[in-house]
Amino acid sequence: MSKIKVMSENMANMIAAGEVIEKCASVVKELVENAIDADAKIIKVNLEDGGIKKIQVIDNGIGMDKEDAVLSFSRHATSKIYKADDLFFIETLGFRGEALASIASVSEVELETCNGIEGTYVHIKGGEILETRSGEERVGTTITITNLFFNTPARLKYLKSEATELNNCLQFIERLALSKPNIAFQLTNNDKLLLKTSGTNNLLKTIHEIYGLNTSSNMLEIKAFSDDFEISGYVAKPSVLKKNRLHMHTFVNGRIVRNNELNKAINDAYNTYKHEGFYPVVVINIFVDSTLVDVNIHPTKQDIKMSKIDKLTDLIYRTIKDTLYKNLLIPDAITPEEKESNFTFKEESKENYKPYNHSFSEPSVAIKDIPVEIEQQQLNIGYEELEEQVNEEFKQLKLYPVGQVHKTYIIAQDEGNMYILDQHAAHERINYEMITQKFKEAEVFVTDMLIPLIFELNAADYKIFMERKDILTELGFKIEDYGINTIAIKGHPTWLKSGFEEESIRTIVDLVIASDKQFEKAKFLDSMAKMVSCKMSVKANEDLSFIEMEQLLNDLVKCDNPYNCCHGRPSIMKYSAYDLEKMFRRVL
Ligand code: ZN
Ligand code: ZN
Repeated sequence: MSKIKVMSENMANMIAAGEVIEKCASVVKELVENAIDADAKIIKVNLEDGGIKKIQVIDNGIGMDKEDAVLSFSRHATSKIYKADDLFFIETLGFRGEALASIASVSEVELETCNGIEGTYVHIKGGEILETRSGEERVGTTITITNLFFNTPARLKYLKSEATELNNCLQFIERLALSKPNIAFQLTNNDKLLLKTSGTNNLLKTIHEIYGLNTSSNMLEIKAFSDDFEISGYVAKPSVLKKNRLHMHTFVNGRIVRNNELNKAINDAYNTYKHEGFYPVVVINIFVDSTLVDVNIHPTKQDIKMSKIDKLTDLIYRTIKDTLYKNLLIPDAITPEEKESNFTFKEESKENYKPYNHSFSEPSVAIKDIPVEIEQQQLNIGYEELEEQVNEEFKQLKLYPVGQVHKTYIIAQDEGNMYILDQHAAHERINYEMITQKFKEAEVFVTDMLIPLIFELNAADYKIFMERKDILTELGFKIEDYGINTIAIKGHPTWLKSGFEEESIRTIVDLVIASDKQFEKAKFLDSMAKMVSCKMSVKANEDLSFIEMEQLLNDLVKCDNPYNCCHGRPSIMKYSAYDLEKMFRRVL
């Protein structure tokens, strides 16, 4: 064999490595996916300095014989070693035939593998085999990568800090563990255990092992299907929120996928249940006929393209929304004693590695838990069959005002319970539901204004406003062109509360102009309903009469979601008679 051929092959490997191995997590991903392909049920990842110094993956998979062990480092190691279990992501797997060769070309690799018959040890540095000999006879594979990018210093510079590299690895293994609850994963860094899952094939247990008790005990199961899609998994109650999108996990046919459209559907389903800028913890498995999936995207990206994606996003949106709606309960004012999670190491890692330090500080109020058995059996039906149930009970309640505290909170009672309401949040919810209802009604009632409101806009804003003004006209706003870049509003729908018309209309005009370029009517109407209902509602520090309080209580119980304002803040909390007895130790 000519030496030239060997050299050019190694050069190709190094170039490929530069393209696809961007960070330590890319190496971890390759090695762990190899372990999964080898049917491993236990996979341990040991890092040193976040993987910069050392990456080791130990699995209990089927292992390799000597021939395959050496072949796995050559550039076109194909299906002999890498098996494609489905056609989905076949191109990624095609790339993966070259991945180990690429990694070996820019690092030092020690491979110890055994298929139950013979043990093999291979030592490679910079793509050059230094040693091959018989090795230990433990069935499975141990692969250790050190000195990453030692011969390509330009690439070495691209590695981030130890904390960032580690965090990427941790995030990847977390996602992978959630996508494969049947495999036990373990991750250590500098001998410190950061993640451990038990591989019992129970997704809720895996969620518990990764996120801890507070999250896992607040997850709701979802299950639904349509002609082309089947979805299942867990979504968090709105009491468990994070400050970034990283905890919305979607898997398509078992593969990790990050897709903006799916994330948007999930996030939209939580509208009015949470503050903007906070995101839920969600783990959703999506099953789809692989003919609908197209993976013409760079192998290191985890995105996909799918036909009928709007059908899928609709299914996800409706299923989550229904699930949240059916599980709404008045928050219990008494926080149950925090039970310690078994996985305290997770807390440490949160401290050390910043992106994980973002969990929304838990409200001092815990949403009352639904017994787990009920949750499990509840949603085992297609979404078309879902029906309203829980809230009907609440709508029958009759609450009586007791009084107002600090001109901000209302105390109320019924036979069994005491309630505390935030008067603004409660009123805002009532107005929000009233306005969104008005949006749907065909008949529009208009109040003419005695003095029209005149807006002088700049040319750009004027143009935008005129393009979008039909939305307002449909709602019952009378708008007239009033000369150069000027508009006059001469009438408004009757539901705008008197005394607040001018302020509301100014807000609405601003909102029409300010909405971003991809103007979506539904989104605009929702923002408008939120802003106007906030403006129209009683504020904190406002006196309320008994009659006003009574009206507010009556209106609130009739709401579809009486428990939050439209921005996700709680509006009502409950102390049961038992809670009170416990507080005053009438019972033990
Ligand atoms: Zn408000
Ligand atoms: Zn609000």
